[in-house]
Amino acid sequence: MQPISDTTEILIAGGGLVGNALALALAQGGLAVTVVDPLPREQQSATAFDGRTSAISQGSVRILDHVGAWRHIVPEAQPIHDIRVCEEEKSGFVHYSDRDVGEPFGYIVPNHILRRGLYQALQEMPGITLRSPNKVTGFVTEPGHITATLDDGSTLRAPLLIAADGRFSGLRDQAGIPHRVISYGQTAIVCVIEHTLPHHGLALEKFYPAGPFALLPLVGQRSGVVWTETDADAAHYVDLPEDAFNAELQRRVGDPATSVWGQVTAIGKRFSYPLKLMHAERFIAPRVALVGDAAHGIHPIAGQGVNLGYRDVAVLAELLIDQRRLGLDLGATALLEHYQRWRRFDSMSMTASTDLLNRLFSNRLPGMSLLRRTGLRMVEHMPRTKKFFMRHAMGLVGDLPHMMRDKAA
Ligand SMILES: Cc1cc2nc3c(=O)[nH]c(=O)nc-3n(C[C@H](O)[C@H](O)[C@H](O)COP(=O)(O)OP(=O)(O)OC[C@H]3O[C@@H](n4cnc5c(N)ncnc54)[C@H](O)[C@@H]3O)c2cc1C
Repeated sequence: MQPISDTTEILIAGGGLVGNALALALAQGGLAVTVVDPLPREQQSATAFDGRTSAISQGSVRILDHVGAWRHIVPEAQPIHDIRVCEEEKSGFVHYSDRDVGEPFGYIVPNHILRRGLYQALQEMPGITLRSPNKVTGFVTEPGHITATLDDGSTLRAPLLIAADGRFSGLRDQAGIPHRVISYGQTAIVCVIEHTLPHHGLALEKFYPAGPFALLPLVGQRSGVVWTETDADAAHYVDLPEDAFNAELQRRVGDPATSVWGQVTAIGKRFSYPLKLMHAERFIAPRVALVGDAAHGIHPIAGQGVNLGYRDVAVLAELLIDQRRLGLDLGATALLEHYQRWRRFDSMSMTASTDLLNRLFSNRLPGMSLLRRTGLRMVEHMPRTKKFFMRHAMGLVGDLPHMMRDKAA
């Protein structure tokens, strides 16, 4: 069969959590978009659970709402009303309440629900061509456009290629963009638990020397667990028999007689994710832009990875839609440089602060425990500082693109 050769305005390699949201935002602005992803369509919209849940900030909710995906997601999104941060079982903690900011901090959503919601919105949106199961295997940059080759031998021509192909982005390497990887020597054990008492929208982050243990409230009497251990210990815990695994979880959640969650039981599969920091040196190359984890992969300690990716989406979509309105080249260097300048500070500061937070809390250095608890107590008694942290985590500070601005403001 003759390989298909086609053209499109924007080619997105990677229809994951970030790539599909970007496709929707661009198509809504009138651009013709082609999304290529090796995952078959049925698998993208299937309810198979990959274990992960995401804390979706209010800023990201505005983006997902704007692109028409949030209404498909919201029935299974649990609002976060309270957040408690503490160190092991020791005294001293910070308690954030959404009463102080007037709206939930964000929502906890299983990743497969996000994927399905995006896919449903994609099917409703004109102007998007899905090429799956397909993979972009390479591309060449030519005057005025790139020509990408797919694994079926066909080619696609576009003025701009957006690499949304995740943390291990092969296209980032092909574009000659160097990246830095630091292994944390930590692995996140991820699973879902059922509990005998309701969580009332409470999220917990408890710091242990090996890493944070987080409980993220899900719809119903369930919570997502992100339990960080050293690589070696994680391998041991993840293989424990059911009773022993539940006992370890209960030890971290607290005594069933006094804990908020009561008795806990793990349900479904356990997953493990080795944790690494990845930051691309540049987010652009001639006629190529990186978004999402292809540009920055951060520690999940603050649940901000995909939220950073959604901010890439809002910024790049705004710039490209304006560029098209003016009838200018969608792959112009000036546009790409503008995108990189706008996103650099946010992504660098989030990468650095999550890295620092992890180093500060995940250690047994003498004196550090006292310092940490003093710090937590101080923040607890500084309402302005607390409010600043809350607005930051909600993704509502900084130079916000239109899509993220409060409509009422
Ligand atoms: C344990 C853990 C917990 C986390 N918790 C949170 C949280 O609470 N909140 C939060 O904001 N973030 C969280 N994150 C981060 C979040 O999961 C990632 O930031 C997010 O998945 C990145 O989405 P993405 O679309 O950039 O990449 P991916 O989801 O990796 O998608 C990449 C897509 O590209 C496709 N692809 C790959 N190669 C090609 C190719 N050559 N051509 C075409 N397509 C290709 C793949 O099939 C895939 O669909 C967590 C991460 C971990 C590890």
